[in-house]
Amino acid sequence: MQITFLGGCQAVGGSGIFVNAGESRILADYGIYMNRRNEPKFPLPPPEEVDAAFMTHAHLDHSGAFPKLYASDDFPLYLTPPTYDFINLLYDDMFRLQRFPFGKEEKRKTLKNSVPINYGENISLNHDCKVTFLNAGHIPGSYSLLIEAEGKRLLYTSDFNTIKTQLLEGANFGHLKLDALILESTYAHEIHPNRATTEKQFISTVNKTLQDGGTVLVPAFAVARSQEILCLLHKNLMDYPVTLDGMARGASRIMTQYPDYVRDYELLLKSLSSCHWVKDSRDRVNAIFSPGIIVSTAGMLQGGPIDHYVNLLAEEPNNAVLLVSFQVPGTPGRTLLETGQYPMGGKMSKVNSLVKYFNFSSHSDRTQLFNTIESLKHNSNPTVFLVHGEKTVCTTFREEVEEEFKLETFCPKNGEAFII
Ligand SMILES: [Zn+2]
Repeated sequence: MQITFLGGCQAVGGSGIFVNAGESRILADYGIYMNRRNEPKFPLPPPEEVDAAFMTHAHLDHSGAFPKLYASDDFPLYLTPPTYDFINLLYDDMFRLQRFPFGKEEKRKTLKNSVPINYGENISLNHDCKVTFLNAGHIPGSYSLLIEAEGKRLLYTSDFNTIKTQLLEGANFGHLKLDALILESTYAHEIHPNRATTEKQFISTVNKTLQDGGTVLVPAFAVARSQEILCLLHKNLMDYPVTLDGMARGASRIMTQYPDYVRDYELLLKSLSSCHWVKDSRDRVNAIFSPGIIVSTAGMLQGGPIDHYVNLLAEEPNNAVLLVSFQVPGTPGRTLLETGQYPMGGKMSKVNSLVKYFNFSSHSDRTQLFNTIESLKHNSNPTVFLVHGEKTVCTTFREEVEEEFKLETFCPKNGEAFII
């Protein structure tokens, strides 16, 4: 089996992996990468014609570049039904925000080539390669990929989370026997705070703001994070109105159609039906002028109705802006967090309301990554490839994995190929 890394090496974004497995040529993920100037970049082109492609989840750093390939090619693209609906939504948003060398027609072709699969299922390619889809616990519909061919077993975790959240069951790979492991390393350098503690602190900050007569603004990603927060709010606060706005509404609507892809469907339904879905500008005004909570996209304060809310809420010290998503350097959210300033009316102004960050990460942290390798090590001694992490994070993690587990470990570069 030969693995060629096309993108997402020593960086976060633009994932792409090509595998020669038996007679089959497999592409796993093909995402976009945004550089600091906010220009889209793509993984290297697949080195050979693709027989079958796999989209592990809807996030654009894993899914966004597929339309580029479908401009001139046709091959089946295996994804879960929620992922299909999410990319249908997210691709349009991607085209709105940036110029791409592809558009609606390539999107249509991507969707047309899609083949729905579910967790636990497997498919056979050319009778000598088996591919199995495992819950990755990252966002609804996300999977990890187990490829078996030539007597070898390779797991590509993609983005995964092993802890149970409001929305999802955690991933568990402990039973697998592997020859190779492609592991995401996003948070290999960091231990996330205990989730229950974060939830408690978040709820108590929300409560205090509301009791003081303030409004709470929660900028959140459309897919998964918004619904995670709504579930948490529903379980803990009953007396104040919760308003939902932005693309999170479309993503929520999609999620209600897939009971099998969330941990507690009843909770999700109750959370979504008990909040106010913004229909027009009057709803937006109402949400601001009464104590309550507004959950809206975009999570990093870049685009969507969030700008309107920050502009109207930020001057009042009683209000709170609670960031619950990772803030990429250079985004207005990161600037707000680091400097307490936000562009209002065309100029950077001081935000008087409370600004606080809460870590609701959907990636495995350092401890989870070590535990995952340890559990796999009980059954086998896979070669480990670290991807989806900043360069220094990957290289440090590589030394630690080799030292701790005595496993051959690599931080591949884009374009590098390995035979296992
Ligand atoms: Zn992701």
